[in-house]
This record gives sequence, C-alpha cells and structure tokens, in this order.
Amino acid sequence: PMIAEIIAVGSEMLTPHRQDTNSLYLTQGLNDLGVSVAFKTIVGDNRQHLVDAIRIALRRADIVLLSGGLGPTEDDLTRECAAEALGLELHREPSVLVELQRRFIARRMAMPPNNQRQADVLDGAELLTNKNGSAPGQWLDLSFEGHRKIVILLPGPPKELMPLFDDECVPRLALSLPRRSLAKRLLRMALIPESQVDARTAPIYQQFSDVETTILAGSGEIQLHFLCSKPTMEEAQARVDAVAELVEQEMGDDIFSSHGESLEEVVLLMLGLRGLTLSAAESCTGGLFAERLTRIPNSSRNFAGGVVVYTNAMKTVFADVPAELIAEKGAVSEEVARALAEGIRRRTGSSLGLSITGIAGPPITTGPDAGKPAGLVYIGLADQDDTQVKRLEIAGDRDRVRLWASEHALEMLRR
Ligand code: ATP
Ligand code: MG
Repeated sequence: PMIAEIIAVGSEMLTPHRQDTNSLYLTQGLNDLGVSVAFKTIVGDNRQHLVDAIRIALRRADIVLLSGGLGPTEDDLTRECAAEALGLELHREPSVLVELQRRFIARRMAMPPNNQRQADVLDGAELLTNKNGSAPGQWLDLSFEGHRKIVILLPGPPKELMPLFDDECVPRLALSLPRRSLAKRLLRMALIPESQVDARTAPIYQQFSDVETTILAGSGEIQLHFLCSKPTMEEAQARVDAVAELVEQEMGDDIFSSHGESLEEVVLLMLGLRGLTLSAAESCTGGLFAERLTRIPNSSRNFAGGVVVYTNAMKTVFADVPAELIAEKGAVSEEVARALAEGIRRRTGSSLGLSITGIAGPPITTGPDAGKPAGLVYIGLADQDDTQVKRLEIAGDRDRVRLWASEHALEMLRR
C-alpha cells in the first residue's frame, strides 16, 4: 500500500506556542482513502532544512504533502525548495498573476512585487484552486529516481488548507490510488493497567501483521485501536473484527465498549435496557459523576439527577443521613456511603441510588475523618433489595482522585 509523509513548514511550530494541526486533518482524510501516514516532519522556514526534509520524504514515502510556506514573504520557501529537491524549474504562471492582480484591485491596493512569487509554479504541476486565499495549491504526479511520487503543496492557514484538500486533493487521490478501504475497530476498557492489557493482548494482536494496533491510555481508560487496509471493505472489516473478537474473549467483561461507545453511554444504555432510573448524591466529586452522565443527550430517560452534598449538614438535609452517624463514623465511611445511597434513592423514588464520599486530598486533620488517607473513597449503590459499598484507595492528586472516583462509580453501575 502507498504511504504518505506530511511536512508542516513553519518556524512557529518549532516554538512552544503553536502546534501543527493541519497534519491531523490531512491524516484523517488520507486514512479515509486507505492511505496511512508513516512520517510527519515539522521543519522551520530554512532553505537548506526544507530541501533536506523534502528529499528525505521523497525517498521513503509515495505521497508527500507539504503545508505552509506558499505566502508572498521572503520566509515562504516551499515552492523554491520543492523545485530544488525535485530538480524542477519554476515558471511564473500568467493566469495566477492575473488572479492575484484582480484580488489587489478589488481591495483598491497596489500589488507589492513580492506577491508575484505566489504565481511561481513547478513545471508539470497542476494548480489547485484556493477559494479562501491567494496562493493556489500545486499537485505533481511524477517519476522520481524511477519511482512514482505524488507531491502536494498546500497553503498553511487551516481555513485555506481544509477545503482545498477536500475539494481538490481527495478526488485526485481517489483516482490515483489503487482502490483500498480502511476498516477500524475500537475496544475500550476502564480501571485496568495498560501494562496488563498489553501483556494479555499482545500475543493476540501480534499474530495479525496486517492489522495496525495502537494502545492509548488516559483519563482512567485504555483504548485498543485496530486499523486494517485491504482492497475491499469486507476483507479489511473481517480482519479487524477477527482480532477484536479474540481480544474480547481474552479481556471479557473488562471491555466496556466493543464499538467505541463511551462508558457513560454504555451505562445509560444498560440502565435503559433494564428499565432502571438513577439518582446520585456526590460529595468529593462535586457533581462530576452527574456532569459526565448529562453530557450524553437524552440521559434524563434514565438519570434523574443528583445532589452535591459537600458538607455534613447537606448530607443530612438532602439525603437524610443521621448527623450522629456522621459524627461517629466520619463522612468518609462505609456507613455514610450506604446511608447516602439509600437516602437519595428513597428521596427521589429512583430505582437506584448512588453515592460517592471520599477524601480527594489533602488528608483531613480534625474530626472523625482525621487520620484517614487522601484518596480514600467509598461508593455506595442502593437498589430495592440491598446496598453495596465499595472501598477504594485511589493514588494521585485531587483531580485524579475525583476523576477515578467517578470512573469507579460508572464501572460499578455497568457491572
Ligand atoms: P500565508 O499566505 O498566510 O503566509 P502560507 O501558505 O505561507 O500562507 P504559513 O505562512 O506557513 O502559510 O502559515 C500561515 C499561518 O497558517 C500560520 O501563521 C499558522 O497560523 C497557520 N498554519 C500554518 N501551518 C500550520 C499547521 N501545520 N497547522 C496549523 N496551522 C498552521
Ligand atoms: Mg506565510
């Protein structure tokens, strides 16, 4: 299969202040065409560096896309450098000059001589219409050192690059490429170490050399992405489905989503299928659990709502937790988690009541919770028959304890 390299041109992207986002957009579009991106390069506005970068890309990729450096100023070097790397001449294209002139006249301005450089076109290049800017893109389909290469010059501003790529490049690429389809699958797991996921699944996915596997970890979740490119969608889909099925057998119930759904969506779906409603009383998460569920449209069908009962008094007022119980056991205790879950369930009439009470950090120094460690969290889940309480010790800072507490609460509901 053909592979692509994207070269983002611009010194600003080598500073801490600007990021190359164009390549993300281009990668998505290329993947949709069945082309994978094998390399990305970011290079400053430096003649020698840019020529070198283009030469390297021509040696290792079939399709080379350059973004940026098509402007009129001295530091816009992409045209010249592409010409040098490819051994081609530039010619000043009259039709582009006329169009540039027209834009200046429309604004009642004189065109500075430098702007003429935007009409420089590589010999043999096709021009790509830039409807949001003055410099056209350029498309070359040529033989370089005996190999077919497609080289595409694109303007840097995302507002220009995106429509130009979609309207001008995607159809040309679709015609130029051998027909291939890209199939994807995404499996998601929560609350399980990445190393464990990898140890258990690597022996499986490594047998699928034609499937590209990526493990991503973050925010209490592990994602396994599978990608496969084949001449037909059926073949590609069959391969990613095959590896996903074996991994699902291995990981079992640890997988909460086998087609990319979020944990919140899965929990709401499960509540819907069982015809259950849910209310929550949150202390240390301050509403994060409710916030996560209510991000999903129509969540009110199964999530009634919740209260943030941060102080002891609020726990008594809104969930009928006896003040004496809090005084005796502390707000962060199995007993209070139980009373909170049962209290919010009774008060709201929901089928399920969920509670989260914990110490996000730092540790509490006075009262009945003194001496308990930061990260200690109790989650209660009450239904009509009984109440389960889970005790957790979550490592990390305040943000992490709160996020993971909400993640554990969602997982407790799912399982
Ligand atoms: P111009 O005519 O605006 O100079 P150009 O084709 O020369 O266009 P650059 O000068 O390289 O493009 O970039 C113009 C602006 O576009 C940059 O200031 C930046 O904001 C944005 N830009 C350039 N490259 C990227 C990129 N890879 N990702 C995101 N934004 C980019
Ligand atoms: Mg520029």
